[in-house]
Amino acid sequence: MSQISKMHQRITKSEAMTGELKQSKELFRIMFYRSPIGSYIIQNGHFRLVNRQLAHILGYEENELLGKPSLSFVLAEDRDAVRENAVRMLKGGCSVGYEFRVINKQAKIKWVMETVVPICYRRKRATLGNLIDVTERKQMEERLQQITAEMQRSNTELEQFAYVISHDLQEPLRMISSYTQLLAKRYGKKLDDDADEFIGYTVDGAKRMQMLLHDLLEYSRVGTRGKPFTPVNCEHVVKQAMANLKIAIEECNALVSYDTLPTVMGDEGQLVQLFQNLIGNAIKFRREEAPQVHISAQRRNNIITFTVKDNGIGIDPQHSQSIFEIFRRLHTREEYPGTGMGLAICKKIVERHGGHISVQSQPRQGSTFYFSIDMAGGEAK
Ligand code: ADP
Repeated sequence: MSQISKMHQRITKSEAMTGELKQSKELFRIMFYRSPIGSYIIQNGHFRLVNRQLAHILGYEENELLGKPSLSFVLAEDRDAVRENAVRMLKGGCSVGYEFRVINKQAKIKWVMETVVPICYRRKRATLGNLIDVTERKQMEERLQQITAEMQRSNTELEQFAYVISHDLQEPLRMISSYTQLLAKRYGKKLDDDADEFIGYTVDGAKRMQMLLHDLLEYSRVGTRGKPFTPVNCEHVVKQAMANLKIAIEECNALVSYDTLPTVMGDEGQLVQLFQNLIGNAIKFRREEAPQVHISAQRRNNIITFTVKDNGIGIDPQHSQSIFEIFRRLHTREEYPGTGMGLAICKKIVERHGGHISVQSQPRQGSTFYFSIDMAGGEAK
């Protein structure tokens, strides 16, 4: 090859390299300066390179930021934490998704999320950072927290209200009840038939109201008077619930059986009440044949799902949600006694234990109630 053609080849190669360099510079320019993410390089705590989006987030022109200490844009309260994060980043190799507040040129506070990595820039240590504005998301989170706190507060107030009302009304009601009973005893048969009937209605109404208030009080107590959670053996709990229902079980020859049941974290008294309400209903809403109730449990990860299955009258699926509401009943008192609070109490107890309750049933086909308990969750961990 002649000297001339070798030179020509070298020139062509170097031209190609210059072209490639130009292209990659162009690519860098596009990626860095046109990026929708605020990008920058910090050296010795000062901005060495900033893009348009960072300037936009902070409300300045790019050249107004260059050479300025980066921490001066961070809200004073957050500066120490940002500094500590930078030290952690140097040790760990990077920091991803760190959130803090900045102040823009118009003195408005913004929430930002930053990802930074240590780099070498112009032969010196530096930090390459990417920043996005997360103010809207943060505001929504804060609003959501406020709403949750407000809801919790009003829930607690409502529970306190229900507690006070049901507790304080019991005393005057007891008085009405006992005096009308006295009236019936002393003057029954001395007045006319109508009067006897009216007294009967009054006694009955007062008794019913006592039952309603009693159950409302129980309901409000789930949240306000709950005990701290301890390990609870569910077989003991079911035995206790069965002992409390001994008379009802014997009266209708009910067969209540259960598999091996686990120990859970919970409020023992409330769990007895929960099983008692479900077994009690399974017996109360029976068909002609003797009731059969079976209790089992299944564990998946931290969630234990209990099943209480009966062979009773069943429930129309259209009511499978509403029966858990307070005072909701599907039958008259003449058909089956009750206040309509039993399942609402069950729901509240289950939710306090971090779980859900539901039912699967068809009319005359028996019902299966499911409820879960979160071994890792629950309100009173
Ligand atoms: P109560 O038993 O006082 O009526 P609950 O809240 O315990 O109130 O139950 C609400 C309604 O759900 C009942 O009135 C009944 O119609 C229905 N129900 C509950 N448990 C069963 C069950 N095991 N079988 C059939 N129906 C049931």
